[in-house]
Amino acid sequence: MTVYETLPCRVVTGPGARREIPGEVERLGARRVLLVATGSARAAADELAAALGARCAARFDRPAVHTPVEVTAEAFAAARTAGTDAVVAIGGGSAVGLAKALAARSGMPQLAVPTTYAGSEVTPVLGETERGVKTTRRDPALAPGTVVYDPELTVSMPPGLTRASALNALAHAVEALWASDATAVTDALATESATLILATLPEVLAEPGALPARTRLQQAAWLAGLCLAQTRMGLHHQLAHVLGGAFGLPHAALHALLLPHVLAFNLPFAEPAAARLTRIAGPDPAAAVAALAPPTRLRDLGVPHSGLREVAERIVAAPYANPRRFALDDLLGLLDGAW
Ligand code: NAD
Repeated sequence: MTVYETLPCRVVTGPGARREIPGEVERLGARRVLLVATGSARAAADELAAALGARCAARFDRPAVHTPVEVTAEAFAAARTAGTDAVVAIGGGSAVGLAKALAARSGMPQLAVPTTYAGSEVTPVLGETERGVKTTRRDPALAPGTVVYDPELTVSMPPGLTRASALNALAHAVEALWASDATAVTDALATESATLILATLPEVLAEPGALPARTRLQQAAWLAGLCLAQTRMGLHHQLAHVLGGAFGLPHAALHALLLPHVLAFNLPFAEPAAARLTRIAGPDPAAAVAALAPPTRLRDLGVPHSGLREVAERIVAAPYANPRRFALDDLLGLLDGAW
């Protein structure tokens, strides 16, 4: 028996959609907004703060990757002091994650304005890091109730982040295809998402300012985020969680470098996913994804080879559901290849 669940979410999408945010804030009945934004989204945040006027009660501009609990505590104190009643996050998954962590602690409604392809804005998932260990929880109350997709906010992503973030999205779609709780709906979402990403990413990399292609890639990332929301992720996401938490690695870059390795590892054991991906990407999906991935390896990110065993041991001790069963040595082989 498989249980399929969707979350209520209002999505405003299209070039210039960010200008609808004040109206969406009004719709939430919020009077004192906490605006969370990374430096990369400063211009959009300044524009929004001006449009909100007195309803922008506080700003926090230091969200950090993997949602460290210390940063959340600092932002929570700022929200408390200002007496905020809603949080708007503009930025990548780090800004969106911080808004979720704040909502979890305060019950504030959230409005998410993603500027990368991470997909967190449509998931009920929050990963938080405390003393180098990233733990993930899932609760429908964590999902932002309003999402604004403005592709104009993605144009500023440099090529490296564009590539890595798009492959992060592709990883959500790929893992949905081989998930133990995949359904006809998630298969459809994942297939369309992977098809769009593989077709559009090269276009965007060739012409980063092309809005129609950026728009398609953002829509693909939305679908991928829904895949993440609606299925249980497997070995790929577990590797990213354990490595990312243990070594403080850049989230999207880590996903991008791992994906070809996990595809090669899992696909021989995931026949239906392999059949779909072969139709989309050609006879060797792992190689097709590797051709799009950055040339980075785990060692380039500063991961010591001596740290791989502990990562593998932690995963083998409590593995996420995965199409391929594996032993410690299998996993060490995968990690060694990615290193
Ligand atoms: P990020 O938010 O950490 O951003 C990476 C860097 O890119 C930052 O320096 C940021 O300022 C910059 N940036 C963001 N958008 C930009 C733009 N449009 N132009 C130029 N620079 C830009 O990275 P991310 O990969 O988007 O998110 C990673 C975080 O999100 C991690 O903490 C991860 O755990 C979380 N995440 C959570 C979920 C979930 O469902 N819970 C899903 C995906 C990611």
